[in-house]
Amino acid sequence: METRELWKKYEAEMFKISAYKLALSTVEFDAETIAPVKGDAYRNPRVSYLYGEMFSLQTAPEFIELLEELSTREDLSFEQARTIKWQLKDLEAIRYVPKNLYVEYSQLALESSQAWEKAKNNDDYKMFEPYLLRIIEMSKKLLEYRHSDAEGYNVYLGDYEPGMTIEKYDEFFDLIKKELVPLIKEISSKEKIRNDFVYRNYPAEIQRKMMNKILEYMNFDLEAGLISETEHPFTNSISKGDNRITTHYYENNLLSSIFSVVHEAGHATYNYQVSDELAETYLFDNMSSGMHESQSRLMENYLARRSSFWDNLFPYMKELFPEQLNDVSQSDFIKAANATECSLIRTEADELTYPLHILIRYEIEKGIFDGTVDVNDLENIWNDKYEEYLGVRPQKASEGILQDVHWSGGSFGYFPTYALGSGYAAQFVRAMSRDINIDECMRNNEFIKIKEWLKEHIHKYGGLNTPLEQIKIATGEDFNPRYYIGYLKNKYSRLYGIKK
Ligand code: ZN
Repeated sequence: METRELWKKYEAEMFKISAYKLALSTVEFDAETIAPVKGDAYRNPRVSYLYGEMFSLQTAPEFIELLEELSTREDLSFEQARTIKWQLKDLEAIRYVPKNLYVEYSQLALESSQAWEKAKNNDDYKMFEPYLLRIIEMSKKLLEYRHSDAEGYNVYLGDYEPGMTIEKYDEFFDLIKKELVPLIKEISSKEKIRNDFVYRNYPAEIQRKMMNKILEYMNFDLEAGLISETEHPFTNSISKGDNRITTHYYENNLLSSIFSVVHEAGHATYNYQVSDELAETYLFDNMSSGMHESQSRLMENYLARRSSFWDNLFPYMKELFPEQLNDVSQSDFIKAANATECSLIRTEADELTYPLHILIRYEIEKGIFDGTVDVNDLENIWNDKYEEYLGVRPQKASEGILQDVHWSGGSFGYFPTYALGSGYAAQFVRAMSRDINIDECMRNNEFIKIKEWLKEHIHKYGGLNTPLEQIKIATGEDFNPRYYIGYLKNKYSRLYGIKK
């Protein structure tokens, strides 16, 4: 058969798969946001059924044959060849798994996530522990069905971040430990930055207005996206024209939802700006987790924590909260938004201590898979590590091991990409500032220029390139974590008056 005809056949199959994907993401978004919990029992088995049907399409021998045939064709375009290559790579994770095991795992992940939520609300790790142990067991079992070149935990690390291994992450985290831990220690003896006003009362209703203003400032297209509310903020980009973000409003915390909204808007913008040519292809959303995280963190930390971002927004915020911010200047606000303090909650952590929260999870995951961590003692191990690296010990499970949803869904190998993403972002910002004046764009209400730079150098490519290729394309250099470390050391030494 001619390649052109084969490709048509491929596209027809992909259309069917994408219909299942659309249905599943929509149901899941609904379940996370507004669906009543009493509908779970009816919903869960049907969602699992849909997963099973999609799985059958994705792993049908004729479909895999089609992909393999296409992968041998030399008259494919670069984009087509890459599409097939990445799809075969991703399929490797599931294609040798027996269907009943896959369905069982999806069902377990679903139940486990629901158990996690209940356990967290009740502050009781024991309620979640049996699920977590089953998820761990199942994640190890699934490795037996992999035909990857890697082994053990490396398989999962490579799933989330192609090219990354324990060896490379060890090197990255060693650098973080060596360079940042002493700085964090030194800062802890310095005078604290004022942040009392952050914890005043900020009614959710008014916070919502502020978020709309921020999204407007960031040129977030509300005809191609929406903002909703969940326990744990996330982004669901269903298609180029449908990018959904969520947040959680804490009435006694001004900063939390602001930076989580900017973060999620960064994720959504990445998919929104994928080129039209790739938008309905596999490359629309197969970017690595580290790359995706680099785009959310770039907006959250490298842009929204700069004073220039607030020149157009702070006066409005003062109007919304005249009493709460009565004695607060823009400079006070920016300082508080950048202050560092060792704390228990990852998602609330500042830029400097954040990578240590990730280091802790990375070490635990590594230990779970190489057997050096006792899985029956995870809560204590977690607490001990917090004490060791951050000098704080969780008193409640909800502020400790139950704080993140990831493990409940079996996402091992995911956490390290968060720290890596911050590392990539530092290098992207450095390249961006060679081409445009970031502060001037933000001051002049021209956030669009920043987005255009990101589109041109990163977003339009979708998941076409590997992370390391994409970094080279955007910055002209290989990935170099020293930019990240240098950025943090400079910023925090200046903020706390530490001589280097
Ligand atoms: Zn994120």
